[in-house]
Amino acid sequence: MPPPRRAGKGRPGHASVIIIGAGIAGLSAGIYARLAGLEATILEHHTRAGGVAAWWRRGQYVIDDGIHFIMDGGGLEAYREVGALGPGSLSRMDGLGRFTDESTGTRIDTTGDLDRLRTDLRGISPGDAAQVDWFIDGAKALRGVDMGLIESFRPPELAGTLDGLWAMWKMRRLLRYLAGRYARPVGDFAGGLRSPVLRDLFRSLFLPEVPVWFIMMTLALLADGRMSLLRTGCRDFIGGMEAKYRSLGGEMVFRSTVERIMVEGGRALGVRLRDGAERRADYVISAADGRSTIFSMLEGKYAGRAVRERYAGWKTVRPLLTVSYGLARTFEGEPHFSFLQLASPLRVAGRPVGALSWRIMDRRGGFCPEGRSVLQAMVETEWGPWKELLEKDISLYEMEKRDAAAAILQTLGRVYPGIGASVELTDVATPCTTWRYTLNHEGAWGGWLITPELVTKSLPITLPGLSGFCMAGQWATPGGSVPGCIVSGKYAVELLLKWEGRRSPPAAPQTPPPALY
Ligand SMILES: Cc1cc2nc3c(=O)[nH]c(=O)nc-3n(C[C@H](O)[C@H](O)[C@H](O)COP(=O)(O)OP(=O)(O)OC[C@H]3O[C@@H](n4cnc5c(N)ncnc54)[C@H](O)[C@@H]3O)c2cc1C
Repeated sequence: MPPPRRAGKGRPGHASVIIIGAGIAGLSAGIYARLAGLEATILEHHTRAGGVAAWWRRGQYVIDDGIHFIMDGGGLEAYREVGALGPGSLSRMDGLGRFTDESTGTRIDTTGDLDRLRTDLRGISPGDAAQVDWFIDGAKALRGVDMGLIESFRPPELAGTLDGLWAMWKMRRLLRYLAGRYARPVGDFAGGLRSPVLRDLFRSLFLPEVPVWFIMMTLALLADGRMSLLRTGCRDFIGGMEAKYRSLGGEMVFRSTVERIMVEGGRALGVRLRDGAERRADYVISAADGRSTIFSMLEGKYAGRAVRERYAGWKTVRPLLTVSYGLARTFEGEPHFSFLQLASPLRVAGRPVGALSWRIMDRRGGFCPEGRSVLQAMVETEWGPWKELLEKDISLYEMEKRDAAAAILQTLGRVYPGIGASVELTDVATPCTTWRYTLNHEGAWGGWLITPELVTKSLPITLPGLSGFCMAGQWATPGGSVPGCIVSGKYAVELLLKWEGRRSPPAAPQTPPPALY
């Protein structure tokens, strides 16, 4: 693509950029833009930053509906660089959580002690010993590997031949695991096990579509002490990024919903907001929902065949219903994450739901006062029924929310008898809630569904026929994720600098790494 013509107010070295969206990718793009000396303005639909990495206050409780854990798959430098992690931000995970099969009462703690995990899984199903051994051996083989996966897949606009070779070199210990038996969906692997309990356990470790190696890698990171929880959730993670951006002189405008990206002569030259106001800049980065960016803000005019096929055919993550209960009790000794395979399905929005997961947050992370806790339950749900109810009659939608929260609480009562009596607050977020605050397609909490085919792909971040514009975030990065989105913001700025005839963004000033734990 030829270098773009300057349309706006920028002077050489002081070009300006408008960034649509203040999620993790938009904040990251803003930070790297400012580090590179670009004038940066982030326009955000909502009244606060974070996008799907969301948190809010309800009375004495903080509801955190984002980021579950931080995987340190190759260094946490990028997180530090954007101000997301500071001293004491992380607490190390010693297990992924507790799985319980309600029908049989079988309980498994997914520990990072892989030998113990092997013994526990073999004990549940001796007939699956060979499969269990193969799986645990794979996880053990990946211990100590610098995955460097995210940084390895640079967008094609930036990748050179040497980048490809460098990526291969960095991933050399991983390569054999990216193919063959290791690359099939973990749900398929699970389907081959004899024990129904182990089948459900393996499917519950993340999404059943992700490749086997991804779960092995997760267990390897866990065993290496490189899986962490955010001690105070999204509040300080996003707050740190926002503070960094502002401290670098970036402009942020909330309640600014972009309706159109203005284009002249095949070049993006600014945006028009829902209220009719126009803002111009030399470049536009969209770190917002991909579908609405391409097909609404740009009216589908720059969607080539590949882009259309992607949006027609690729699956997105299934949306979640999240119910957070503020409770006048604590859960000493309980794991942070739990997963319950239900003996009989729940009905949520008219559909059966076979499993319930939850996480517990307490005063140590500042989520509630002493003696209280937040239990946040999650079930996979569908967009359609919630949207239909909302459009038909908001009181029916609200009633369904209440019914779902009551049914989930009743189920939790089987695990924690008497829990209902300690409920002080119930907060329900449906896929429509996610849509309302982030405009993500059908309330998706992430981007594209992580499948073996997609997870190692890199997507173009520009659109055919349009200059001065690129994308960042979970729709421009297969697999989305926190590190993927941080790095994608950096890549977007790198591309702008390439167009400007400049080199990569300077790294943030080096400070001694803080003790993150
Ligand atoms: C419950 C949950 C748990 C998760 N757990 C993990 C985890 O453990 N590990 C991990 O790596 N990832 C996790 N993720 C995924 C990860 O958080 C996301 O992939 C990432 O935060 C997406 O960031 P983003 O900036 O690309 O998009 P978004 O967060 O969607 O941000 C887009 C922003 O653009 C704004 N916007 C949209 N349209 C417009 C418009 N027209 N005008 C102006 N602004 C607009 C939105 O309001 C939003 O703020 C989790 C997500 C959720 C919800």
